[in-house]
Amino acid sequence: MLKTIGCGELRAEHAGQPVTVAGWVHRRRDHGGLLFLDLRDSTGLVQVVFHPESEAAAAQVASGVRAEYVLQVRGTVQPRLAGTENADMPTGAIEVVASDAVILNAAETPPFSIVEETNTSEVMRLKYRYLDLRRERMARNLRLRHQVVKFIRDFMDSRAFIEVETPSLGLATPEGARDYLVPSRVHPGAFYALPQSPQQYKQLLMVAGVDRYFQIARCYRDEDLRGDRQPEFTQLDVEMAFVEEEDVLALIEDLYAQMAAVVGAKFSVPSPFPRMTFAEAMEKYGSDKPDTRYGLELHDLTEQVRGSEFQVFSRVIEEGGRIRGFVVPGGADIARRGVDALTDLARENGASGLVWAQFTGSGALEGLSADDVRSPVSRFFTPDQLGALAAACGGTRGDLLLLAAGPDALTSRVLDTLRRKLADDRGLADPNTLAFLFVTQFPMFEWDATEKRWSAVHHLFTAPFEEDVPLLESDPGKARSHAYDLVCNGQEIASGSIRIHSRETQLAVLRTLGIQFEEAYEKFGHMLDAFTFGAPPHGGIAPGIDRTVALFAGERDIREVIAFPKTKSASDPMTGAPAGVSARQLQEVHVALDAVARDAIAAGARVDAEEDA
Ligand code: ASP
Repeated sequence: MLKTIGCGELRAEHAGQPVTVAGWVHRRRDHGGLLFLDLRDSTGLVQVVFHPESEAAAAQVASGVRAEYVLQVRGTVQPRLAGTENADMPTGAIEVVASDAVILNAAETPPFSIVEETNTSEVMRLKYRYLDLRRERMARNLRLRHQVVKFIRDFMDSRAFIEVETPSLGLATPEGARDYLVPSRVHPGAFYALPQSPQQYKQLLMVAGVDRYFQIARCYRDEDLRGDRQPEFTQLDVEMAFVEEEDVLALIEDLYAQMAAVVGAKFSVPSPFPRMTFAEAMEKYGSDKPDTRYGLELHDLTEQVRGSEFQVFSRVIEEGGRIRGFVVPGGADIARRGVDALTDLARENGASGLVWAQFTGSGALEGLSADDVRSPVSRFFTPDQLGALAAACGGTRGDLLLLAAGPDALTSRVLDTLRRKLADDRGLADPNTLAFLFVTQFPMFEWDATEKRWSAVHHLFTAPFEEDVPLLESDPGKARSHAYDLVCNGQEIASGSIRIHSRETQLAVLRTLGIQFEEAYEKFGHMLDAFTFGAPPHGGIAPGIDRTVALFAGERDIREVIAFPKTKSASDPMTGAPAGVSARQLQEVHVALDAVARDAIAAGARVDAEEDA
């Protein structure tokens, strides 16, 4: 080894020992003849001191290094002078007095600081990701990710699961997201698809008698990358035979509670994890992934405003919609500008407006006068009527009442957005709490208004409630499924379901989705066949590893916990992927470019595509 110990491992007890350390020059300081370098490796930082008088040669080498040079130093550990210790540094009690130094490699000035969290553009960070990953925060995130995955593997092993690898080259399937396609050379015109998840394989493993399967699985979905998405991401894929919903949830609850204790010790994790049906979650929070760290719960005020003069409300009620809202404690202090911004946000989410009322003072919402209430609808409601609406939402004087009117899908979206925004603005969510919960009983289907057909809410292998099977034909929108999500702090962490294991039920679900017998066999024949050979009842779930690590790392963006992520346009500025390929490569896989692609190449977007055409 070119070093005898890690820079960050040195402690007071090493004083007097000879050591060899090697790493990157983190910082240098010249101090009245002495030269100090902080040397960094994967274990941390140590201060190295060079004495030009006693160790001239070493000092000479050190005086020629700049930031990020790779340096090997031989020396002796000594306690720092009294008063110069650094309690913030694990190695702050000591320093290495250098007797010898060798430059192992020089370094250009990095395009951004490794030492400080400077505001560097995303593209620069990704182009020089190997430098970005040298930064402490990123190095910490990578290590945390390793710990999470290791914890998962050990935990699953202790519960008698075995890890089975499934193919990356599979069959394209309809439904779900868009596939990444891989053209076949030996089968002209045929394509593999990269797995959106190992869903079908893991179910087939249950038919194969594996019983308890898991995999740290890479999944690929060719979706537009809004927000927190990546074209490839990692799941803990799980499937179990002979289980019911509760068995899967109990396993995942244990996994997360125990994992939090090991890798997320600084967080408080309320347990047992609450369970909530989809219908409850939508009613109370307007979302199937509510952040339950704070209240701001929604209430239905339709009955209370029925018959009011206010046309906006009466029209919505006539059309079968509802008036829903919530109260923001202390929200009377929000300035008019702030309330207008909330109204704009409601409009951006499809509302025609937002009805609000602010109640001044403090105490119960009784005996209100006109001066006690500020509201754009005070012409239509008396102060006491508005007060009663806020009181029904649990409010008092000093609060802000927000109301949205319309079909549930609209009011849910609007109020959920407002709820999250207000919690953010007012710091209502405790950053040190991980509020896990399970959302259950998702509907089987939702109506796709653009395609004018039903689509599966989870996926088409999800089992309906036994008693809802007749609804698959008569009233699909009412059928409940055995699908469930693990949610934390307003994010979906895992999705799963109990699966269909009968060919007839699978065919019935496919019919609801508009896939008739022949097409069903063409696309899912292997699954339908497998179900006829003694498929055991089974179910599973798939927590997102990227999201899980981000949660424990306190990162909002999953790209901060992925070593080499893609940009929002699904490209990699470091390697240049995706890129053109030679005409010969295209020919080999029997692919011809269309006019759009040729134009893009002509415009210089894909430089190397036609090089040996
Ligand atoms: N395969 C599903 C998904 O990727 C998860 C599951 O049902 O286990 O969302």
